[in-house]
Amino acid sequence: MKTHLLACTLTLALGFSLGSCVQTQTMPSETVEGHVLIATWPFGQKATDLALQTLDEGGSPLDAIEQGIRLIEHLGCDRTVGLAGRPNAAGYTQLDACIMSGPDHGAGSVAAMEGIKHPISAARLVMEKNPHVMIVGEGARWFALEHGLESVDVSDIPAKKSAWEKARLSGTPVPDPGERGHDTIGVLLRDAQGNLFGGCSSSGAGDKTPGRVGDSPILGSGLYVDNAVGAAAGTGLGENIMRYSASAMIVELMRQGLSPQAACEEMVHRTAATDPLGYDLSICFIAINKAGETGAACSNDSFPYAVTTPKDSQVLRVGAVTAR
Ligand code: ASP
Repeated sequence: MKTHLLACTLTLALGFSLGSCVQTQTMPSETVEGHVLIATWPFGQKATDLALQTLDEGGSPLDAIEQGIRLIEHLGCDRTVGLAGRPNAAGYTQLDACIMSGPDHGAGSVAAMEGIKHPISAARLVMEKNPHVMIVGEGARWFALEHGLESVDVSDIPAKKSAWEKARLSGTPVPDPGERGHDTIGVLLRDAQGNLFGGCSSSGAGDKTPGRVGDSPILGSGLYVDNAVGAAAGTGLGENIMRYSASAMIVELMRQGLSPQAACEEMVHRTAATDPLGYDLSICFIAINKAGETGAACSNDSFPYAVTTPKDSQVLRVGAVTAR
């Protein structure tokens, strides 16, 4: 995510333009019939479209989440998802992913995993075929290989020169991992039966320290699903999301009666109010509730996200949350 520092004080319904101000576009607040999908970033629309197609073809909600995210992992969107993701400080890519199923409150997660093409499938296998919830590093890779997931031989992947390595060799200051680019594909689904599901996958922050785990695979931070209330997911600098268990908090705010939009915005305000960074946090959220209403918010940047229903599929955009 790059910082553009655009703010807008108005919340508008779809389709209006306000000069240079980034307008906040959200879906109208009402109960939505049928499947509703929301995903982070414009590339998320590829995931939500494929997820809807998967449902239309008879796939389960978890198949839909998995297939949608696998596509983004395959495409390596923004160089921040899948094996095409930016290398860590040691020059190789480590992957995080998580999946949750609302009806049985199931969850599976993998972190700092190397050489597996589809971490979201590994996370689903953890949820469905393993007594544990989270497996990391070499163990996650071993588990994925045991279940036949597609892999590359990590010893065959030449270490890429990371910005950290280049700086070390040239004697210039080592860049902050937060500056090197990072994104996450997060997909949330409220299906036609009113059940909730979610998944996310990321290669995390470029130039991160080997073994660093972001928010994405941490339940309650990068993703949380509560079938009675709603679901939320995060993207942005994971450290600033993890320290606040942001996704679980957003779900709790929705339980207290806030709309998904208001809950995402409140989470940004709450974090900014107590954090030394204030609004300069680089954190963004998406959320959906049981009624199929959606919302999104971002701390110090405009934030495009995708919403797909059987009627329509579009990329919407919210401006940065205005400081209060
Ligand atoms: N949250 C991810 C991480 O810190 C990166 C992102 O979504 O921008 O690993």
